[in-house]
Amino acid sequence: MVLERLGSSISGALKKLFKAAVIDEATVKELVLDIQRALLQADVNVKLVLNISKRIEDRALKEELPLGISRKEHVVKVVYEEITRFLGEKQVPLKIEPNKRRIIMLVGIQGSGKTTSSAKLARYLQKRGLKPSLICVDTFRPGAYDQLQQLANRIGVPFHGDPKSKDPIKLGLRGLKEFRNRDVVIIDTSGRHKEEKNLIREMKQLEKALKPDEVMLVIDGTIGQQAAIQAKAFHEVTPIGSILVSKLDGSARGGGALSAVAAIGSPIKFISVGEKIGDIEAFVPSRFVGRLLGMGDLEGLIERVRGAEIKIPEKKAKKILSGKFTLTDMYEQFEAMKSMGPFKRLLQMLPGMSGNIPDDMVDMAQERLEKWRIIIQSMTPKERENPKILSSSRTRRVARGSGSAEKEVKELVQQYNNMRRMMKQLRRKKIPFLSGKKLPKSFR
Ligand code: GDP
Ligand code: MG
Repeated sequence: MVLERLGSSISGALKKLFKAAVIDEATVKELVLDIQRALLQADVNVKLVLNISKRIEDRALKEELPLGISRKEHVVKVVYEEITRFLGEKQVPLKIEPNKRRIIMLVGIQGSGKTTSSAKLARYLQKRGLKPSLICVDTFRPGAYDQLQQLANRIGVPFHGDPKSKDPIKLGLRGLKEFRNRDVVIIDTSGRHKEEKNLIREMKQLEKALKPDEVMLVIDGTIGQQAAIQAKAFHEVTPIGSILVSKLDGSARGGGALSAVAAIGSPIKFISVGEKIGDIEAFVPSRFVGRLLGMGDLEGLIERVRGAEIKIPEKKAKKILSGKFTLTDMYEQFEAMKSMGPFKRLLQMLPGMSGNIPDDMVDMAQERLEKWRIIIQSMTPKERENPKILSSSRTRRVARGSGSAEKEVKELVQQYNNMRRMMKQLRRKKIPFLSGKKLPKSFR
């Protein structure tokens, strides 16, 4: 995948920088040239590339160094920040409120990946404890109904459609009625190739009649910088709430599509990276870049430069990985997350760990975390140390105390159990950090 190539050539350039004896104008120039080459190969817009490199060059040598931070470390941070910036400043999560049904309508041209993405999104939400449902209002393409029905059946998500219907609005309204009690309704619409005008008209009518909370535009990532033109065109007709960029696996133009779309201003919320139903991820620019660069220790370094006073607790990491992981630890993690970013970061500090942590484990909406934080606060210290003792009466008390549903308390415990299991699995893998070996010197 070309995005991986982009990442490895940038981290290659950074490694080269780390080997240099001194950081001067010449080393920075060379680094910038390497980065330019890498970005251009990923089809990132030339102007944008020049812009990024100029900013890196300007900041690398001129900015003042924070206490205890070397010039090298500073340059790495600058590169990371500038590359993150061109993908959109921060993550915009899907807004899902408890006890409020959310309607998401997927639009886009034919073949962009709407139908597969609808199912992927449903699966994604289902795995996070929500109750999604799927409606097919594509009455245009023969076979659209079968395609989504099969996918829906495979993941066990309720589906509404009618292969004989020619009226997408009626169909949609019927589906919405049927799925009154689901948490999320995902509507897959038809996309037309040649009859763009009809597509646009239908999209507008559907939007008016079905009143989706969010219109999500699906854009084929293989079209590169062209993605911007498409996104703009759709945006002019219906306010696009968010964007899903599909087919980012195997695309030589992924960098182009991502950067072009990010420049439009509608947030990219998801990317799809393969044909399998699980091949979807929430798009978090900073994490994406961190992974792109593929180095856990790099990410850790950046965190260290950022929040000099937040010490990455080596002791804590050891304790957690040794399996003594309590709800109190999880609570502390949630607290730290506010200033530090995802929990994953802590684990990524460990050399050799980057990319090994399943996204599902950490990929939780910020709102949900906030909720859990409150629930944990409502527990007694004993319950936090040993969640096993949470009987149904205790669960009820905690739920009442935190203003949440019992289901949510149970979910939290479930998540805790998952995390603990994951920690145990990590421990079984050989981690140099735990066997007493130190981090490589350059990254310490
Ligand atoms: P729609 O016409 O917009 O509904 O597009 P579909 O969902 O039917 O997808 C069109 C084609 O693209 C199908 O063959 C999908 O399997 C494929 N596709 C969709 N998303 C991805 C992806 O992320 N990676 C790859 N490799 N193929 C994808
Ligand atoms: Mg389709």
